[in-house]
Amino acid sequence: MIILDGKIVSQAVKDSLKIQVQQLTGAGKRPPHLAVIIVGNNGASETYVASKTKNCAEIGFTSTLIRLENEITEQVLLNNIQALNNDEGIDGILVQLPLPKHISEQKVIEAIDPTKDVDGFHPASAGKLVQGLPTFIPATPYGIMLMLEHYQIETKGKHAVIIGRSNIVGRPMSILLSSNHPQGNCTVTICHSHTKNLNEICLQADIIVAALGRPGFVKANMIKQGAVVIDVGITRVDDATAKKGFRIKGDVDFDEVAPLSSAITPVPGGVGLMTIAGLLKNTLQAYENKMLDDKC
Ligand code: NAP
Repeated sequence: MIILDGKIVSQAVKDSLKIQVQQLTGAGKRPPHLAVIIVGNNGASETYVASKTKNCAEIGFTSTLIRLENEITEQVLLNNIQALNNDEGIDGILVQLPLPKHISEQKVIEAIDPTKDVDGFHPASAGKLVQGLPTFIPATPYGIMLMLEHYQIETKGKHAVIIGRSNIVGRPMSILLSSNHPQGNCTVTICHSHTKNLNEICLQADIIVAALGRPGFVKANMIKQGAVVIDVGITRVDDATAKKGFRIKGDVDFDEVAPLSSAITPVPGGVGLMTIAGLLKNTLQAYENKMLDDKC
């Protein structure tokens, strides 16, 4: 059994991006610039946003963090997005989700200029993904694909079972794994809360992607010997013995499942770190697309 180590793979991605940024700035060009908007002060969101800006700095990207109060109106947020859309110096825009209940996430996602949609959530990006056209792939599925590529996990002809059908993880993952490319060509089954016989379906999986947000849900009795197990789940679980009073748990019962698997991602230290790698790659892509357009 091998551990699919997000720390190693994300570092390799970041090292390569850092060299590309050095080449750009060495040639007198400005570095890529990511703008991040956070609304309110959700603890988990604060952690993710801090990590995103810190990683930008590490590889030489510029980042701008815009903090808005929890009580702001939807229109104020839309105005901020519009200003970033119009700003020539910004390559990528990310609005950290979730948003306060009174703001429509869909409206916000659709307000972002698709050429700056580095989260890949805009319907234009999702549509291109479905059709196999170049686009921004949502960062978590993108990170998982980079991990499969790094460890040379064979996917062709395999049965992949994905638990979860969200627009940010499960559904794009199903499209990528079923597409005709080196880390695709799987036969994909996508499961959700209405799926019957989930255990039996999971037992047929050569590759299983757990993205449902239920800590420890995937147990040994759902796993075929030798399966590749990708755990996307991140849930804060209260733990009085932990320094912060909580512990991060994945959707897979790692202790039970790891001995049966041929490869498995840990939580933490797996997919979460790869998500940032995917976001950074998308930001460089947005920058390169823009530079290409500016030359034309
Ligand atoms: P989500 O939008 O809540 O979607 C969860 C999906 O799981 C839904 O499709 C739901 O089905 C399905 N589901 C829920 N309970 C189920 C059950 N008992 N059996 C089968 N399917 C079930 O969640 P998400 O945003 O995709 O996130 C999923 C998990 O990944 C969360 O823990 C989240 O924190 C984590 N996450 C991690 C990263 C990372 O960087 N590692 C990034 C994003 C998300 P229905 O559609 O029928 O409701």
